[in-house]
Amino acid sequence: MTETQSNEIQQALKEARKIVSCARSVVVLTGAGISAESGVPTFRGKDGLWKSYNVMELATPQAFKSNPKLVWEFYLWRRKLISSCFPNRAHYALVELEKHTPEFTLITQNVDGLHSKAGSRNVLEIHGNLWRSRCIQCGDKFMDSRIDCEIPPLCEKCGGLLRPDVVWFGETLDTTILNRSINALEHAEVLLIVGTSGVVEPAASFGAVARAAGAHVIEVNIERTPRSQMYQTVLLGRAGDILPELVKNSEV
Ligand SMILES: [Zn+2]
Repeated sequence: MTETQSNEIQQALKEARKIVSCARSVVVLTGAGISAESGVPTFRGKDGLWKSYNVMELATPQAFKSNPKLVWEFYLWRRKLISSCFPNRAHYALVELEKHTPEFTLITQNVDGLHSKAGSRNVLEIHGNLWRSRCIQCGDKFMDSRIDCEIPPLCEKCGGLLRPDVVWFGETLDTTILNRSINALEHAEVLLIVGTSGVVEPAASFGAVARAAGAHVIEVNIERTPRSQMYQTVLLGRAGDILPELVKNSEV
């Protein structure tokens, strides 16, 4: 990196820091990139396989219907992997940001629960949570930390089949959570998009919703994305390096 490039990055960070620290309402949207820095597999590229199965075909209602045991085996394996992953500096920077922002909403596409583990409070998990199970019969939901249990697990209340409370490919998002997300985006002064290529709907539209409502959109990602040109600020680098700098309060 040349000195000029480095100065440009510092300047962009400084300006973004001012915008973030002055905002009354901030919405953050996070994706796989922030978790990848904690060692959570992204299930893209070479990570997209488990045993000989394509993850895209396993995380579906059809796969669960035809072989719930196999799907649960995959999810318990994922729980086990994630149980040895910890929140990183980016997760903790967002906890700090929440403390200093009057209205703060964190929307995440991640299902690993790392934001809550770090201490974030107002979190909307639009794709669900791997550590929660749901009964397909009575609808009961509960936090479920089991990584080694009989599969498929059954509901203690009604004996029905339990499933991971995550949104699978081909399923729609929870309407309440989606509406709360849209409402937050429409009232945001700043939207910070972190570690997501932003091409998967509906998160892909979130930047546009916030911009249309007048928000300043800041994208933090290791590389430019197909959406970068829509946003006022693009900060390239690791979330764990950039976010702690971005939320520093010293230069207000
Ligand atoms: Zn039940």
